[in-house]
Amino acid sequence: MAAEHDEGIVLRLTDFRETSQIAALFTAAHGQLRLIAKGARRGTKTRIAPGLDLLERGELAFLPPRGEAELGTLTEWVQRDAYAGLRRTPVRLYAGFYAAEATLTLTEPGDATAALYAGLRGLLESLAGDAAAGAALVAFQRTLLRAAGYAPHLESCVECGRPPRPGEAAYFGSAAGGLLCRDCEGHHVEKRRIADALRGTRPEGGAAVEWFALLDYHLTQVAGKRLRTAEPLERLLRAEA
Ligand SMILES: [Zn+2]
Repeated sequence: MAAEHDEGIVLRLTDFRETSQIAALFTAAHGQLRLIAKGARRGTKTRIAPGLDLLERGELAFLPPRGEAELGTLTEWVQRDAYAGLRRTPVRLYAGFYAAEATLTLTEPGDATAALYAGLRGLLESLAGDAAAGAALVAFQRTLLRAAGYAPHLESCVECGRPPRPGEAAYFGSAAGGLLCRDCEGHHVEKRRIADALRGTRPEGGAAVEWFALLDYHLTQVAGKRLRTAEPLERLLRAEA
């Protein structure tokens, strides 16, 4: 069987048997891939494959899963960017971990979305550089939610269509799909009050930590569980804000 080629980002590594690892990657053309990297485990004498690191980007060759198998096989990995800069502060590193966990949670193997790959790559570049982590994260959350079909509607109340009035409390309903005004929020059980700091702002401006928390709430509802990395990341973001 011929190997396929792609470029991808390493999102999770799990030890497998004596010497191997299972790598979960998000790739440009194939979306999420889960591949066995034989002999890639560090510290083993029989290491035959180059080691993989979390949150690095590279070019790969792989044999796709056959039949009922869920795992393909990684046959080649050439690192192209280690994003070393994102490891220099905890908030940047956790932002990368959060993006990895969120991507694996909201995509299925086989969903190829070039826009999401570009968004993930752009986020890691921002985190490795000097851009503010919060704003870069919010942009990524929006790209991920859009790719997964859950882009929230924030311009007006999803129920009555009225734009938010200045100075009036507003709510966000995840199942409702976006903004709920004070008159309509009473019909919805699942909702969250929108922080006062976000009134009249848009995700691309405004208080990044609060936008992160709101979009993380939406993501939590969509996923059915809070991501493991969300709570420590939110704490780090608030400490920096
Ligand atoms: Zn309304």
